[in-house]
Amino acid sequence: MARDSRDSKETVKAVIAIIVILLAVGFIAFFIHGKRSNPALSRDREVLAIDSITGKKYILIKKKDEEWPLINPDTKTDTLWPALICYKEKILFPNTANTSAMSCPFCSSGGVGAATVNEEDLEVKLVQE
Ligand SMILES: [Zn+2]
Repeated sequence: MARDSRDSKETVKAVIAIIVILLAVGFIAFFIHGKRSNPALSRDREVLAIDSITGKKYILIKKKDEEWPLINPDTKTDTLWPALICYKEKILFPNTANTSAMSCPFCSSGGVGAATVNEEDLEVKLVQE
């Protein structure tokens, strides 16, 4: 009898573990789906982009199915990246594949965010690569 009771406890533990795993998977799936169906990301939108070579700023419409980097309309090269802003230095920099979006490459401040077209007038800094 003692053995049966231990087995049933193990079974309960296993069932709880499975439920927890299913909940976690469900939550992750819901989260990913929620991100995909975010209306802000699933339509064309106006973006502030920076050319990683010239440092020139562009405000253009990024179509919902376009991926970074975008084609620079002047040079025809794929060097346009989303603009990030360092709130500490009040500067913009392109969020290239080599840039971390978590901290500023110049002052290491964590106060970094996606720049909007309203920040167009700020100075651009480029990482020397
Ligand atoms: Zn900075």
